[in-house]
Amino acid sequence: MTSTSVKENVQFHEELRQSVRNVCSQFPDSYWRELDAKLAYPEEFVNEITRNGFLAALIPEEYGGSGLGITEASIILEEINRSGGNAGACHAQMYTMGTLLRHGSAEQKAKYLPKIADGSLRLQAFGVTEPNTGTDTTKLKTFAERKGDKYIVNGQKVFISRAEHSDLMILLVRTTPIEQVKKKTEGLSVLLVDLKEAIGNGLTIRPLRTMMNHATTELFIEDLEVPVENLIGEEGKGFKYILDGMNAERILIAAECIGDGRWFIERATNYANERIVFSRQIGQNQGVQFPIARAHVNIEAADLMRFKAAELFDSGEKCAAEANMSKLLAADASWEAANVALQTHGGFGFAEEYDVERKFKETRLYQVAPISTNLILSYVAEHVLGLPRSY
Ligand SMILES: Cc1cc2nc3c(=O)[nH]c(=O)nc-3n(C[C@H](O)[C@H](O)[C@H](O)COP(=O)(O)OP(=O)(O)OC[C@H]3O[C@@H](n4cnc5c(N)ncnc54)[C@H](O)[C@@H]3O)c2cc1C
Repeated sequence: MTSTSVKENVQFHEELRQSVRNVCSQFPDSYWRELDAKLAYPEEFVNEITRNGFLAALIPEEYGGSGLGITEASIILEEINRSGGNAGACHAQMYTMGTLLRHGSAEQKAKYLPKIADGSLRLQAFGVTEPNTGTDTTKLKTFAERKGDKYIVNGQKVFISRAEHSDLMILLVRTTPIEQVKKKTEGLSVLLVDLKEAIGNGLTIRPLRTMMNHATTELFIEDLEVPVENLIGEEGKGFKYILDGMNAERILIAAECIGDGRWFIERATNYANERIVFSRQIGQNQGVQFPIARAHVNIEAADLMRFKAAELFDSGEKCAAEANMSKLLAADASWEAANVALQTHGGFGFAEEYDVERKFKETRLYQVAPISTNLILSYVAEHVLGLPRSY
């Protein structure tokens, strides 16, 4: 990249940040706080961010999106969280859409992508996790049996977020029993499920209340019919398709954590400057300021790995190690910043009106989902360092 194009890129990113901030400024802390209290979905926010084209950042221009890279997509999600909002309400559209884009047929892409781009269809649900198999994805039990031009699907999923607020769902199922495949990663397939048609016709969605407002659900699937034309890519190759989307997911979640971290640091700093105890600002005490400074340092360091991973991704280079490491570093840094912000606020950190407890709960998720910290460490140990596989 020439120095002029680097400058143009920096300027473009700054403008992009500003335009996301403009939308987010219409949704103040009180908006998110009220939704949190009711465990309600941020419908107006998601509509507005979609209407402004931000969720279509990764969709190529020929399908009505803006054809941007993961770097820009990550900036969008970072700014949502940086504003005090929660991109978890809509982030999945960015990374699940990649499965359709990379592996869908020309007909599927022409049918769905323009509508996803203009917001008339939401692809916000991603059905992988199951109650009995957890992180051991290849052992999942949901089975789709082909009968003529349909798949008949039976099984159960858990923690499937936004299923009640989405039109479409990417569903990972087994199409060949595990005993009949050479490698356990074979025989899994990806189906695109039309949720509006499926609900009441084999699909039951039950909300699953969690610590934070995340619109997650359990899915009960009984003889659900999915047309064969909704198979994405080749039957039996679905695990690879899902893995293909994982690097994007890791980088985008890392960026959300960076946004959270910056929000926590700003709130902690402001409070430490304003709060007077023992006749001086609490931030004058090194015991208060050092943890905030350290959390800031760690957020900035994690951000470097996030941009390194995003740059590799956008240049089509291998980035699995960097994507995984950026997710781990950013999730750890945002969790550290969350603890620091809570501690700095003393008792008021626990009061809902300060929003720290809400964001604290939200950022805690990223130690566990979409991939837990242990599994990232296992990846690095095995694939980067060459240590024996531990599971
Ligand atoms: C709010 C929320 C939203 C979610 N949204 C979605 C969604 O939209 N779609 C979806 O498919 N899933 C979703 N998930 C599921 C999420 O991806 C899983 O919870 C996560 O991958 C961990 O799986 P598990 O809960 O089954 O934990 P388990 O696999 O049971 O693991 C439990 C603990 O053991 C550890 N562990 C397990 N095996 C090993 C090992 N070999 N080595 C070291 N440690 C190990 C894990 O790190 C974890 O801490 C969501 C989860 C939550 C909480």
